[in-house]
Formats: sequence, structure tokens, C-alpha cells
Amino acid sequence: MGGTLEQRNDGTTEESRVPTFRRSDLLVIQTAFLGDVVLTTPLLSVLASRHGPVDVVTTPAASGLLEGHPAVASVIRYDKRGVDRGWRGLHRLGADLRGRRYRRVYLPHRSLRSTALAWWSGARERIGFADAPGAIAYTSRVRRARTGHEVERLLALAGSTPGVPAVSLALAARDHAEADTWLEARGIGTRFAAIAPGSVWGTKRWPYYAELVSRLDRPVLIVGGPEDSALAQAIAAANPERAVSAAGALSLRGSAAMIQRASVLVTNDSAPLHLATAVGTPVVALFGPTVPEFGFGPRRPGDVSLGHADLACRPCSRHGPERCPLGHHRCMRELSVEVVLKAVLDVVSAEESRAICPRN
Ligand code: SF4
Repeated sequence: MGGTLEQRNDGTTEESRVPTFRRSDLLVIQTAFLGDVVLTTPLLSVLASRHGPVDVVTTPAASGLLEGHPAVASVIRYDKRGVDRGWRGLHRLGADLRGRRYRRVYLPHRSLRSTALAWWSGARERIGFADAPGAIAYTSRVRRARTGHEVERLLALAGSTPGVPAVSLALAARDHAEADTWLEARGIGTRFAAIAPGSVWGTKRWPYYAELVSRLDRPVLIVGGPEDSALAQAIAAANPERAVSAAGALSLRGSAAMIQRASVLVTNDSAPLHLATAVGTPVVALFGPTVPEFGFGPRRPGDVSLGHADLACRPCSRHGPERCPLGHHRCMRELSVEVVLKAVLDVVSAEESRAICPRN
């Protein structure tokens, strides 16, 4: 098993080293975290509006999210922690890309691996950020803004744009059916809240989700990946009448379809925040060691970001450390259930008062 698995948007897949066709002469390499891939969709939309759908190299976890997206021609998986790990796997994928004869490569992710892939692809034009460690290998270096939302920062790679397309996922009928089937089997109808208590980084996890659920007046769906299931089960076990865990139970796209059906999503600074943005669900986002000003906050009017306002140590890192370096984790521990509950009720009230205009 050495080739790259290509997922075509005509529903077929092919494992090959030597490409038998070419869908686009533009390639975007985005192998960062799930949320970053979601926030790259406006850039994909702008490029597609100018040149037609583009090819994308991304991680296996994120590849399914881009399937069927109208801005994407082909999704090329790069399993950097699995079959493609190490320089040998990287070089193998680079050789595959070279065979596709891309004219131009965009690099929203600033990793050296991405730079190496762009270089080995043989593309004459390589467009990335000037502050990337491998920027010397780019043919066009774009200044990365220090402020603003990540969506706009990434869009700078495409030059000036008349507007900002929405963060988007092209959910299919099967994704909605997966969500509906799962919810109906558990008797969950409309007016439920969703929470996403997990995060890759320990200090980003707000510790009071179980208490919040006990204070809400509606069913609560707990969303997340398989790695979040123990935490989700513990919250559900503390609220057996009200909460049910869907962590790890559905595909990523099915989870996004479930989030779309929720009245609100309460989440840490993590990927579900961006999934909610993409499907138009109101968000209450809880920030601990990070801040929305880093550029990864919610975007929808009416969304709420909460964080400890009076803590000199905050923010303490770009991603959030696994453990609080000061040992007290006050940024999250002192973000009270009362404050979060009030925000949730306000957001839900505003959403339901205009429910006659359904979201899309
Ligand atoms: S140092 Fe401050 S901001 Fe960082 S995790 Fe600890 S309490 Fe939070």
C-alpha cells in the first residue's frame, strides 16, 4: 500500500501513483487540523469561482468534509501519521503530485511538509505566507495579517476579492439521513441544544458542561469524535434524563448535520465551533487559554464568545497547553456556569424568536 487514495467528486475512488486524468491545474495543500480545513473553504470558493473547482491535499480525517464541495474537484489524502508518514511517504506523494502537472499551488498551511510537497509537485507557481518556515521556496510570498479572522487571512492568498464567501460544507442527503435516523431512534426532535466538550488540548476544555446540562430546559446532544466519547459518556451519565452522547457515533458529516439541527452549540475553541459556523447554527464559544482575537472565533451575527476578562496570564499560548503552566487553570475554572447559561438562554431565545425564517 503505497499510492495515494484519491476521492473524486463523482463518487468513485482510485488508488494510483500515476494519475490517469487531471481535474484541475490548481492545487491547495491544507493538512492542518479539521477546523483549519473548514476555515479554508472560503479560499477554495474564491479560487473555484475564478478557475473552476480545485484539487486539495488534506488529511484523511478532513478529506470526507470536502467531498462533494462544489469548489473541490478532487480530494487527495495525505496520511502523514499513517501510510504516508516520514520523508519516504512525503516524497511518494510529491511524485504523485508531479505527475498531475499542477500549474499553481496554494499553501494556507505553513508547515515544512506542505512546502516540500509544493516543491516536489513541480508547480511553477507556489503561493504561501511570507512568515512560513519554508517561504524561501515560494514564488509568491503573501504577508499574513496579525489581526482579523483566519478566514480573511487565508483569503489573502487569492489576492483581492470583492467579498468573502461563507464558510461552507456541502452536506449531502445521506449526511442528513444519518443525522435524522440517529436522532429519531433516540426520540430527539427539535429544540435540542448541542454541546462539544472535547478539545485536543486539555486547557481548552471547560470543566462544567455536566452542570450546564443539568440547568438547561431541553434535551442536550453531546457531539465529538471517538476520542471524546469517555468525557461525553460521563456528562451523559450525570444527566441521564436529559443528555445523550453522539461522540464517535456518526461520521464527521453526519455530526455536522446534527449540529445543524440544534438550537445552539456550546463549544470550546475547537473544530465543532467551525462546523457550526459552516452549517449556520448559533454558537456560544468558551475561550480559556486562547482568545477570539487569534482569529478563530465564531463569525455569525448573534454568536457569543465568552472568556475570563481579568486574567493577566491569558492568553498563554496560541493553541492552549495540555496543562496550565501556572497550575490553577483559572481561565476556565472561573468561567461560571451562570455566565454560560445566561448566554445560552439569550442565544436560544433570539434564535427561536425568529424561527419563522429557517436557517439554511
Ligand atoms: S496560564 Fe492562565 S491562560 Fe494559561 S491555562 Fe493557566 S489560567 Fe489559563
